[in-house]
This record gives sequence, C-alpha cells and structure tokens, in this order.
Amino acid sequence: MTTPLVEMDGDEMTRVLWRWIKEILIEPYVELKTEYYDLGLEHRDATDDKVTEDSALATLKYGVAVKCATITPNAQRVEEYGLKRMWKSPNGTIRRILDGTVFRAPIRAEGITPYVSGWKKPIVIARHAYGDIYNSVEDKARQGERAYIVVTDADGRELRRSLIHDFNDGCGIVQGVHNTEQSVIAFARCCFKYALEHKMPVWFGAKDTISKVYDHRFKDIFNEVYEREYKAQFEDAGICYLYTLIDDVVARVMRSDGGMLWVCKNYDGDVMSDMVATAYGSLGMMTSVLVSADGKYEYEAAHGTVTRHYYRHREGGETSTNPVATIFAWTGALAKRGELDGNGELTLFAKRLERATLKTIEEGYMTGDLVPLFKKEGVTPVKLNSKEFLQAITERI
Ligand code: NAP
Ligand code: MG
Repeated sequence: MTTPLVEMDGDEMTRVLWRWIKEILIEPYVELKTEYYDLGLEHRDATDDKVTEDSALATLKYGVAVKCATITPNAQRVEEYGLKRMWKSPNGTIRRILDGTVFRAPIRAEGITPYVSGWKKPIVIARHAYGDIYNSVEDKARQGERAYIVVTDADGRELRRSLIHDFNDGCGIVQGVHNTEQSVIAFARCCFKYALEHKMPVWFGAKDTISKVYDHRFKDIFNEVYEREYKAQFEDAGICYLYTLIDDVVARVMRSDGGMLWVCKNYDGDVMSDMVATAYGSLGMMTSVLVSADGKYEYEAAHGTVTRHYYRHREGGETSTNPVATIFAWTGALAKRGELDGNGELTLFAKRLERATLKTIEEGYMTGDLVPLFKKEGVTPVKLNSKEFLQAITERI
C-alpha cells in the first residue's frame, strides 16, 4: 500500500470482530498501512470527542476510510462508561464534515433467499444525510396560541409570515424543518454518479403532490441536475432516471426484481434501509458507504455494535456474531484505495476476500443469524462461532 487507509476503530462486539478480521483475514495477506483513530467510547471521552473530528478530517485528506460500529451514547451509556458528557453520534459528526450521501447495499450469497421472493437483484438505498427532521425545531403549542412560519432578512426584519395552525380549540405540536439548495444538488450528483458507476437505474420518490414547495423542490433539483449533467451519460449507459410519488415507488419496488438505486429523502432512507436489509435476510448482511460530493469514501457495516452478543462474549461465552458486513467494509475500502492508487493487486485481494466470504456461506458454513434463512439443495447449514467462521474464510482465500 502507498496511501494509508483511515482506520476508525469502534465499540463492543464489532471492536472484537475488527481485531479478528485484521488478524485472520487481512494482515497475513496485505502489508497493511492505516492511520489509526480509536473511536471507542472510552477514547472519545478521553479526547473530548476530538478523535472523531480528527478521523473525519483525515478522511478528507486521504479520501478513503473504514469504520467500525460505535456506540451513540444515551443516558444509560453515560452511566455505564462514566462519561464526562453525552457525546454526539460519531456518524452524525462524520456525516456533517463529509456532507454526503449514504448508500446501503445488501450482500447476497447463494442459498440466502430474500423474504420478498421476487427480488433477484440487490436494491441499493441512497439516503440523503442532511436536514429534514434530523435538524428540526419542535415545540408544543398551548390552547389559544398560534404558530407561524416567519421569514426575516438578515437583520431580523419580517418579510413573510404564514399561519401553520391556530390552536384555538386545543393544544398541539409543531415542527420546523429545512434543507438547503446546495445539499440537495450535491445529493443528486452523488446519486447519479453512483448509478453510472454501478450501471443501475435510479428511482426517486417524494411527496410533491402534498408538499408542493418542499418536496417539489427536491423533485425539480433532481430533474435539473439530471437534464443538465447526466442525461446523455445515462442514455449511453442504457440506464434510466424515474421520478414518481414515494408511495408509487414503494409499490413498484415490491413488484420489481430489484437492481435499482432507490433514492430516499433522509427519513425515508432511515426507515426503508432497515426494511430492505431485513427483507434480504439479516442486518449482518448490509454494507454502508458514505460518499461526499467531491468523492471521499467512508465504508462501514450498517448494523450497530451488537451489544447483546458483546455482554455474552465479555462473560467468556462464545458468540456467533456475523462479521460479513464488517469484512465488506474493509474490502470496500481496500478496493477503493487500490483503485485510487493504481494498486491492482490490492483491489484484486479485496475481491478475492469477498468471494471467499460468500463461498464459505454458499458451502454451508455460516453464523447463527443466517442458518434459518439458508436453503440450498444438498447443503445442510453448519453454525460456526465468529472466529471459526473467519478461519473457514481464510482457508478459502
Ligand atoms: P445492533 O447492534 O445492530 O443489534 C441489534 C440486534 O440485531 C442484535 O442484538 C442482533 O440480534 C442483531 N444483529 C445486528 N448485527 C448483527 C450481526 N452482525 N450478527 C448477528 N446479529 C446481528 O443495534 P442495537 O442493539 O440497537 O445497538 C447497539 C449499539 O450500536 C448502540 O449503542 C447504538 O448506538 C450503536 N449503533 C451504532 C451504529 C453505527 O455505528 N453505525 C448503528 C446502529 C447502532 P440478536 O440479539 O437477536 O442476535
Ligand atoms: Mg434506521
């Protein structure tokens, strides 16, 4: 390797898997070069969370990062770890600095059949990672109050005002959300670029019939960016761009055989990516990559730190935690690093490791979450613990 990968270590069971994956599947084959950032909760606390910001800035510098799942602290974690503060979500911090789009794709192995029997090809979800309810302002209204949207100039002089609701008849709730032109344009470009790279059609759904200004602006921006910058390239590549209402997209996705990039606004992407991951089998079989508008990449697994398994591991018990999504985070990052550095051997190794991982499952050796899903004639699934599974993979590289 010439350029280092930005390595972001994490928490709990995934931190354990992280070390084993490196020891068993990567270091024996690659002269690994990483710039290491420990995003484990204790070290985030010790550095007042500066390490998270530093790791994101390093990603801007080098271009490719691989991240382990991390704990987003809540009140219970503050107590469990004796934290100085309830630190923010590391993923939120990294997304804010990289300002990008999250792409989530299922990892498919022969024998693991999706719950939706028609889905033959992977469905990739592109989630806008900025704005809407994730940066909203909310309030409660008492009976007799009125809520408005008020727009002022930079000096605070009121320009426009529209009534949201008159709470004359009783109390209620209000919410204010926003997005920016710049972020939506970058989102559109990221999606079209990804679709071209992977030769996938793009389906985008929002609710512009109801949200005639807000969602409509998303629709118009996507249309403008497509017509101006991507239409010709899409036609050359033989792929299409479809905009329709979000409910229509849901119906079409269910009827389809998969294979599209499903572009989602922030909340839709949050919800739909869990649905799609589960429908393809297991949360342990979904990768996630954050791509910034100027082509920086951060690879990770879509699942969390698998706390329940970690507590068992800590008490000396064996666990059969699925490491596949974390392995694919590593292979995604190594392959991208190889591609950017013109290091063909590195990319080839990454592909070989992916192939060996899938082959292990296809030959019937897997972690417990996959056993009930596995159906292949003549092959009886064998449940392995995490370490045995990693060893079975290394035998097949
Ligand atoms: P989780 O870690 O994804 O685990 C939820 C359940 O899903 C597990 O208990 C397990 O079910 C199953 N599961 C998930 N990944 C699996 C795998 N690789 N192999 C086998 N089973 C798997 O979600 P959580 O328990 O809600 O969150 C735990 C911690 O992770 C939280 O502190 C949260 O803040 C953090 N988190 C981090 C990220 C991230 O860094 N990207 C994302 C989400 C959550 P069974 O117990 O039934 O086996
Ligand atoms: Mg979610």
